[in-house]
Amino acid sequence: MSARACILPVFVPHQGCPHACVFCNQRHISGETGIANADTVKRAIAEAALPPNGAKRQLAFYGGSFTAIPVPRQEELLGAAKEALDRGEIDSIRLSTRPDAIDGAVLDRLRAYGVDTIELGAQSMDDEVLRLSGRGHTAEDVRRAACLIRKRGFSLILQMMTGLPGDTPDRVIETARRLIALQPDGVRIYPTVIVRDTALYDLWKAGQYREHTVEDAVSVCAVLLPMFEQAEIPVIRLGLNPTEDLSGGEAVAGAYHPALGELVMSRVLLNRARELLKEAPSGAAVEIRVPGSRLSQMIGQKRENIRRLQEEFALKDLKILPLDEGKEELLVFFR
Ligand code: SF4
Repeated sequence: MSARACILPVFVPHQGCPHACVFCNQRHISGETGIANADTVKRAIAEAALPPNGAKRQLAFYGGSFTAIPVPRQEELLGAAKEALDRGEIDSIRLSTRPDAIDGAVLDRLRAYGVDTIELGAQSMDDEVLRLSGRGHTAEDVRRAACLIRKRGFSLILQMMTGLPGDTPDRVIETARRLIALQPDGVRIYPTVIVRDTALYDLWKAGQYREHTVEDAVSVCAVLLPMFEQAEIPVIRLGLNPTEDLSGGEAVAGAYHPALGELVMSRVLLNRARELLKEAPSGAAVEIRVPGSRLSQMIGQKRENIRRLQEEFALKDLKILPLDEGKEELLVFFR
């Protein structure tokens, strides 16, 4: 997927979904209510701002389980999208769905309407976590659907979550390993947020679920990002998009933070610096150089990374400076 693609979102909230994942209240998460129909699609296209020069326009059906919606409604939505595609008003169509709502016939239909990217909500590759989360599918369903999608030539985006009921950092890392083995074109990582009016909220209130804090999410996602980076799989989203509802009190606990991705990148850089400083003699004066665009992430919010590194390695002095233009590494110098 082009990094410059301009997304035209159409939310399909909870339509057709026969499941009740413990964390899900699609209305709160998408900030949308009501039923999406052909007019919704036409409006999304007509009202979208013209993209900056050369950017592609991708119509994206988000939320819900698109391929579990009754087929006539799918065809209504896809028909409106396909007409726009044929007229050159959009460049591509993407949708998201569940692993157990994918088979050969479904993919034939999506192909006929010009869909080219399918996002699959895997969430975990641990069957116990999937069961405790009320997902209603297994890790094998994810593997089978992902392989079929790739075999049929669609782009595949996989979504995973961290901090679900029954999850541990090891299980999350194993999920990432198994998703990497499926060779997706990109992943989205959603640390669990406790949203009001969900089963997870009730479990949390009853003391049967321990909140996945922002710190828990930052810590484990700082392991995941380098794994995906090494596998050359782009992480195209980390954390829920902030919405008025979520920020206004619907997100009652859990890993909801408007700058979660920044916090995680900051921790990734902290961990890299820790590795490089392993051999630092106590009382050393150290200079860390990072690309200019990473400077504030390396320093951390409220200079947290500087404070931690100084304490952990008993440094006499620590300076964080920009690297020469064009260099991408993180370098450490002892003085
Ligand atoms: S499958 Fe998707 S839409 Fe349905 S309950 Fe789960 S997360 Fe929500």
